Amino acid sequence: MKVLVINAGSSSLKYQLIDMDTMTVMAKGLCERIGIDGSNLQHKNLIKNVEEKIEKPMNDHSDAIRMVIDALVDTEYGVIASMDEIGAVGHRVVHGGEYFSDSVIINDDVKKALDLCTPLAPLHNPPNIIGIEACEKIMPGVKQVGVFDTAFHQTMPKEAYMYAIPYEYYEKYKIRKYGFHGTSHKFVAGEAAKMAGKPIEELKIITCHLGNGSSVTAVDGGKSVDTSMGFTPLDGVVMGTRSGSIDPAVVTYLMNVENLDAKGVDNVLNKKSGVFGISGISSDFRDLIKGSEEGNERAQIALDMFNYSVKKLIGAYAAAMGGVDVVVFTAGVGENTVSARSEICKGLEFMGIAIDEEANKSRGLKDITKPGAKVKTFVIPTNEELMIAVDTKRLTEGK
Ligand code: ADP
Repeated sequence: MKVLVINAGSSSLKYQLIDMDTMTVMAKGLCERIGIDGSNLQHKNLIKNVEEKIEKPMNDHSDAIRMVIDALVDTEYGVIASMDEIGAVGHRVVHGGEYFSDSVIINDDVKKALDLCTPLAPLHNPPNIIGIEACEKIMPGVKQVGVFDTAFHQTMPKEAYMYAIPYEYYEKYKIRKYGFHGTSHKFVAGEAAKMAGKPIEELKIITCHLGNGSSVTAVDGGKSVDTSMGFTPLDGVVMGTRSGSIDPAVVTYLMNVENLDAKGVDNVLNKKSGVFGISGISSDFRDLIKGSEEGNERAQIALDMFNYSVKKLIGAYAAAMGGVDVVVFTAGVGENTVSARSEICKGLEFMGIAIDEEANKSRGLKDITKPGAKVKTFVIPTNEELMIAVDTKRLTEGK
């Protein structure tokens, strides 16, 4: 079966066509500036290793999907003979609220529930829904599956997901911790169990998805029992431009002293904070490392704060699970930033975590555990698209 994976944003749409029989990505690409002047599609045929950029107006997501299909079946740079070869479509959906604890085949009831989740992710869910509807229109009869960033975390116990604010706000507004990056945490936890050579049910795993947005998850017996992002992806670890956890009183104080409204303070905490806000130079770890090597003190403070925030969560989640067997690093920073892994693990020898500094320097999928250490530490490249395709195939085959 060939599965088309779609990740629709407000003005962009990413796609991959994955052959599930061989588990290979046949083609992938990106539509940019949908509904804006200068819209274009960048398409890569990974079988022939050819690339094509097509500049053509895309008024909406339906136009974008149509262009994606045209590119996929193109005789020169396409990878399939006709649209009929697409067995199912898997859509990344950011927020599934409390409705979805697993991926789901889209039908009218599901779409109604997705609409109900929109207030929880007003920027992300609407384009995801538009992407689904565009595919339904253009590929009638092809099964559409929704895969949620929040679903994996629906197994968290109440003491982990509730906030200690008046209970009625949970009932009225569904204010609670949801967690995000669930598809990635689930994928790398599964891969970690394979690498450890043990059933996931027998393992306590801490997965560190460290990228522009970062979150850490406690995976006990294959289930998420706690995660660092919360009601929104603003909570937890210090991030590229997001503050992560802060005293909530800072919000009201800042509003007063800086004369900010709700939108203004939201903007500061989401876009101007994190390692970018602290360093004043960049949200990119490569720039920060260069900065710190050149003696930029604030770049070094930003890196130290980031590493410390992840380290503390590893300790917290080991406590929550009553131990840890495996720590996983993934995503842009987790996979590539050698010094971050090294600093995060430093001082955790007391709980059995120690990494081999030489192994830590090499790139790609690897076991970086120091020989003899009780806890395994792995670097595992995440692959959310593959996970979406796997779930899409599973559900369309009725499993
Ligand atoms: P997103 O959350 O946007 O998906 P990514 O997971 O792609 O983010 O992570 C992006 C971050 O990964 C960049 O900000 C950069 O700091 C870091 N990164 C990527 N490649 C490298 C590298 N080779 N060395 C160090 N850091 C890297």
